[in-house]
Amino acid sequence: MEQRTEVAIIGAGFAGMYLLHRLRGLGVPARILEAGGGVGGTWYWNRYPGARCDIESIQYSYQFDAELQQQWEWSERYATQPEILKYAEHVADRHDLRQDIQFNTRIRSATHDEAASEWTLIDQDGGVTTARFCVMATGLSIGSQLAAYPGAGELCRADLSHRPMAA
Ligand SMILES: Cc1cc2nc3c(=O)[nH]c(=O)nc-3n(C[C@H](O)[C@H](O)[C@H](O)COP(=O)(O)OP(=O)(O)OC[C@H]3O[C@@H](n4cnc5c(N)ncnc54)[C@H](O)[C@@H]3O)c2cc1C
Repeated sequence: MEQRTEVAIIGAGFAGMYLLHRLRGLGVPARILEAGGGVGGTWYWNRYPGARCDIESIQYSYQFDAELQQQWEWSERYATQPEILKYAEHVADRHDLRQDIQFNTRIRSATHDEAASEWTLIDQDGGVTTARFCVMATGLSIGSQLAAYPGAGELCRADLSHRPMAA
């Protein structure tokens, strides 16, 4: 399968979702390619007990949608992972983002052809996306990291089982 877009965004976390929304507003065709099966990035992958944000929920909200800012009520001062994921899903629904997000698509390579001024991205199934611009909205923590002291691996392994492996 081969497809073309103006801006290919890798990652449907908070950054990728916002970028898609902004580009749409500017009339620029864009498409997100996301390894996971849903939006939310960090909050899609990290489902271990007790996961929550460490800044106040009200600060951990998109600022671009004033109406949503007024409507959305966080149930706790420091929201838990399920609630933040629900929020991300709500934003995706509200702004109809999913129609331009391709889930379960892990990009394995991104190559730039300077002469043609074009990126070619290839996913895990050999699917090809070409784009004039490529934005890596891949976050800070895409690979599983096990602490390097004896026994730490066993402690961490269960918690990290949902995390994506590095491309
Ligand atoms: C437990 C926890 C608590 C946190 N609390 C806070 C907080 O309180 N305040 C704060 O500011 N930040 C916090 N963070 C940091 C958090 O990661 C960021 O706030 C934010 O969610 C990052 O969003 P992002 O869109 O940049 O990246 P991410 O949410 O990491 O999204 C990146 C996306 O890119 C996708 N991706 C990566 N590589 C590929 C590939 N090759 N192909 C396709 N898709 C790919 C991933 O699947 C993922 O969905 C916390 C993180 C964790 C884990």
